[in-house]
Amino acid sequence: MLSLVYRSAWDVALEERPRPQIRGDHDVIVRIHATGVCGTDLGIISGKYHAKSSIILGHESAGEVIEIGPNVQNLQVGDRVVIDPTYYCGQCKMCRTGRQNHCLHKSTTETGVSSDGTFTDYYVTEDRFLYKLADHVSYEEATLTEPLSCMLTGINQIQLLPNFRTIILGAGPIGMLYSYALASKGVIGSIVDISEERLELARSIAPDQWDTYASFDAAVEGISPDDHQVDLIVDTTGAIGTQVLSNLAHGGYLMLVGLRDGVSSFNPKEVVDRSLKIIGSIDSLGTFATAHYMIERGLVPAKKLITHTYPLQSYQEAFRMLGCDLDDGTLKTASGAIKVVLQST
Ligand SMILES: [Zn+2]
Ligand SMILES: [Zn+2]
Repeated sequence: MLSLVYRSAWDVALEERPRPQIRGDHDVIVRIHATGVCGTDLGIISGKYHAKSSIILGHESAGEVIEIGPNVQNLQVGDRVVIDPTYYCGQCKMCRTGRQNHCLHKSTTETGVSSDGTFTDYYVTEDRFLYKLADHVSYEEATLTEPLSCMLTGINQIQLLPNFRTIILGAGPIGMLYSYALASKGVIGSIVDISEERLELARSIAPDQWDTYASFDAAVEGISPDDHQVDLIVDTTGAIGTQVLSNLAHGGYLMLVGLRDGVSSFNPKEVVDRSLKIIGSIDSLGTFATAHYMIERGLVPAKKLITHTYPLQSYQEAFRMLGCDLDDGTLKTASGAIKVVLQST
């Protein structure tokens, strides 16, 4: 099967790989139809995010069941499914204390990072990581389940109120999915992006009554003109760090979800004194079923968020659309796309 393989930074290529086999009683082979391109993939390719050499990339995916192990009860050959790629063992210290997204086996089991992913034709997983798709949900739409699930996990760490004054930094796929995850809890917030092109796209997709702004300061002024204080800031860009703390209201939350290296400093006294919460969140924890429900019930406009689809063979073009140029070895901020999906046909 043709697979998009990561060799080293800026060196990825399509390689022929053997089809995975059923090994365990609960194993299922999925014929992959669609996989979303994630910021993590671009981070890996550009050498900013560590991945194991020679693994197949890709983790936000959906496909059709083509083979099941002898003890698989709830799935049949032909079922259309979405894959929860966040493997966990259920037995390590992290798993047994409710932190399955930090399973101690992650360094060898993380789909598309330390274990073979889904930018290919076939993928093997266990039945417990598969969710059936309703007929009206396309494989492409279903690829948004995993990233949405991560956003819901992030939000679960906040004692959220619908009247939180909220700013999301970055109108990319993560920012847009965060807006819908928050909107599902009654929040009416604002989205900030420095790219006018991206803001234009965001405006046509954002949840009802949400505003868009070209800068953080403009957003603060717009939603909180009296005291310039907001209750929740979600930074999906990684560019802000803790410098926005002075705009957080007492007891406010700064949610950091951008994967970007950098050093940020803050005054611990301010955090204590004003009961501020600085929160990080990665991967999903117990929220996949809810994300699956939200996509199925149309609570997230999945079709609109997917602005581009390409066949797997055109991966270079797809990555270029997201600012990642494999020829030049450059990763820039791109603004012409929200979510890009690769199709294995
Ligand atoms: Zn992802
Ligand atoms: Zn574990």
